[in-house]
Formats: sequence, C-alpha cells, structure tokens
Amino acid sequence: MSESADIPRNLRAVHARIEMAAREAGRDPSKVTLVAVGKTMPAERIAEAIAAGQRSFGENRVQEAEAKWPALRSGQPGIRLHLIGALQTNKVAKALEIFDVIETLDRPRLAQALAREMERSGLRRECFVQVNTGAEPQKAGVMPDAADAFIRHCIDALNLPVTGLMCIPPVDEEPSLHFAFLREIARRHGLVNLSMGMSADYPIAVAFGATHVRVGTAIFGHRI
Ligand SMILES: *Cc1c(COP(=O)(O)O)cnc(C)c1O
Repeated sequence: MSESADIPRNLRAVHARIEMAAREAGRDPSKVTLVAVGKTMPAERIAEAIAAGQRSFGENRVQEAEAKWPALRSGQPGIRLHLIGALQTNKVAKALEIFDVIETLDRPRLAQALAREMERSGLRRECFVQVNTGAEPQKAGVMPDAADAFIRHCIDALNLPVTGLMCIPPVDEEPSLHFAFLREIARRHGLVNLSMGMSADYPIAVAFGATHVRVGTAIFGHRI
C-alpha cells in the first residue's frame, strides 16, 4: 500500500482538487497550503514528496520528527514543519527547535510553557489553537465554551504568536458544521489561519475557508 503509492502523482491530484474546490468557492487557490502528513512514513517516502516540490509537512510526534527531519530538511530551503499531534509540556523546548508551526496549543499549562520557552530561547514559532469542536471527551483541544477566553489569554496575557485555529471533527459527523464553527471563532478574534480538512474531507474544508489542509493517506497511502 504505502510501498506502492505514487507520491508525485498523488500530490498533483490533491493539488488539483484543492484548486477546484477553491475556485468553486470563489477563493484564491494559492491561499490554501497543503500540509503533507508524513507521520509513520519512512524518510525515503517523505524525500520523494520533497523532490516533487512539496514544502509544508505535518508530524504528530516530537520524537519521530526529531529522528527524521534534521536530515530531510538539510539543503532544502523553504521547508515548513507543523506539529499536529499532542504536545507534552516537557517536550516544548525540543518542539520549538524542530517545528515552524505548533498547531496543537490547547491548554493553559501548555500555553504557559510555550510562552516561557519562547522567551528563553528566542524561538517564537507560530501557534494555532486546537479547538475540540465536537466536545469529545477523549479528544485533545480546548472545549468550545472555553475557546474564546483561552484564545484571548494566549494572545493578550501571554503574548503568544497565535495566528490561527485547528480542528479535527468527530469521525461520524458532517464536517462542514465543524468547519463553519471554527471559521466563526477565528473571525471573532481576527485570526487568519484555519487548519482543517484531512484526506476524507479536505475539499469541503477548502469550501469553508481552510488555509491549511492536513493530508496524509491521499498522498502517502495507508499507514502501516
Ligand atoms: C494523521 C493526521 C492527519 C492526516 O490524516 P489522513 O486522513 O491520513 O489525511 C491530519 N491531521 C491530524 C491531526 C492527523 O493526526
């Protein structure tokens, strides 16, 4: 499966669908960044995507990214690496070294740790606040009714460089409701970036204003 994925062809196909969805929604396709999710994929497969011109990538674990990315990004200008998985406070320093964007800012203790470490290291990385739009107990993300206060706290009290929001809708619900909801929260706070949409629903996310879609399987094939 992942062995047989034709990565350059898949990238072209995903870009074509993004472009079509953007045009149908009256949006500029260049305002949508494809974040290729390479979690669990061996470095050689990711290198194929880089060779095909892909520049933004997502990983969900700090340790895995630390093992793969220093070599992958060396000599490759313009690579942007997004953290899309849960971040433990004891890995904040490492995460700021490896990642360009932290998409999973979702609780006060993490916000505090990020603010402190950014101040200490001087590594001010863009952050997206993850919102648990479906209020699912087992899922990460700030709960919807706490989102407004948390976003203000991160920006106003902690001076964190929050530029957007991220969500992962419940698997068996209509994603567009969640995308519209996330867009509305972002609008209230003047946040320009919306990270939403995965392999199953990224064209819908683009229609609802996604600036970043996180796509793994449709590019790299099924994870083992
Ligand atoms: C794995 C993952 C993705 C990509 O999922 P696919 O369905 O393979 O496209 C997107 N976002 C997050 C947060 C993920 O963990």
